[in-house]
Amino acid sequence: MINYIKKTYKGNKSSFFKVIENNLLNDNKMFIVTANPETFMKADAISEFDKALINPKTTIVPDGIGVVKAANYIGISEIKERITGVDISYKLLELANKHKKTVYLFGASKKVIELTVKSINKEYPDVKILGYSDGYIENKDDLFEEIKNLSPDIVLVALGVPKQELLIYKHYDEFLKGIFVGVGGTFDVISGTTKRAPEIVQKLNIEWLYRIAGDKERIKRFYNSNIKFVFKLRKLAKEEK
Ligand code: UDP
Repeated sequence: MINYIKKTYKGNKSSFFKVIENNLLNDNKMFIVTANPETFMKADAISEFDKALINPKTTIVPDGIGVVKAANYIGISEIKERITGVDISYKLLELANKHKKTVYLFGASKKVIELTVKSINKEYPDVKILGYSDGYIENKDDLFEEIKNLSPDIVLVALGVPKQELLIYKHYDEFLKGIFVGVGGTFDVISGTTKRAPEIVQKLNIEWLYRIAGDKERIKRFYNSNIKFVFKLRKLAKEEK
């Protein structure tokens, strides 16, 4: 747990965006995990996911405010703000549009992915979408074989945590280039199916509250991951002292 936090990218959103732009322009491969407390709790419980996170080739960024706070709690002050999957996706699309780069989109329902493609074609006309698939197909490994042959500059995978990360991790070494990101519910946002919290809510760092309010399943998930995460972190931090 503490090792994931220690490994998390130390810098702000704008410096991270420079890193991804540089990697995109130089065909440097990259695997980005946008982490929240739930990500770390799951990685603690699933050994293959743990391996994926601690692998030096993997870049972890703080998607959730819980990760920022946890980093500060254990004395890492360079982690100051959230860098979310949605923000990274929009940034990558903006960069792909500017530099005429190619993209593959994988995940979400058929309706959502089709609306996502439509929206990207409209808003980012110079982005070349090499292909896309919904996230409910049976053989996801075969699809990755197809993606490999297309050799996209950017691969966004939205299957939820940890499915998206495990799949990327399994196939990452087969690729010669590409920026790979597990983006969770991002296509639901890009397609306009789910509204992101208003900016003021994002700024107040209570987007998580906006997301779970009124959603019993998410409240349960929140308790099971975030609350337990706080207790676990406090215990581990004490032990380290
Ligand atoms: N999803 C998918 N295939 C699956 C399970 C989920 O494509 O087998 C999609 C789902 O439709 C949604 C996204 O993965 O678009 C996960 O969204 P969620 O908000 O749950 O992600 P997280 O909270 O993990 O970021």
